[in-house]
Amino acid sequence: MHCCLNPDCQNPHNPDGAKFCQNCRTPLVLLRTHYRPIQLLSNEGGFGRTYLAEDIDKLNERCVIKQLAPKTQGTAALRKATELFEQEARRLQQLGEHPQIPTLYAYFEQDGSISCSSLLRGRLWISCSRGCGVRVR
Ligand SMILES: [Zn+2]
Repeated sequence: MHCCLNPDCQNPHNPDGAKFCQNCRTPLVLLRTHYRPIQLLSNEGGFGRTYLAEDIDKLNERCVIKQLAPKTQGTAALRKATELFEQEARRLQQLGEHPQIPTLYAYFEQDGSISCSSLLRGRLWISCSRGCGVRVR
């Protein structure tokens, strides 16, 4: 399974080996070259999505990708959402490794130029789900 990262995709689940989303034609990419999104976990009402992913460099260890990809640009609501998103990532980083709390692995911004697709966009962070199943807040 390879999940499409287009935040607007209505049917993001694709079979293994697919290069493009069968629903919206967005390229199916590995984030940071080794995180493969495999399942959509939640949809945050127009602000982004959360995905279950595998780290293919670590024997497919499970992790979580959180994506902030708001539909609106430049509004106060967007600034607030971005702030909260960064804050949450920062908090995970400060808490460090704890069996009950996801560990922050990466925080980065993905834009169209990386994937040759303007559909694939947004700020993302990746955390592990070790010891806590899939723990998403
Ligand atoms: Zn798609």
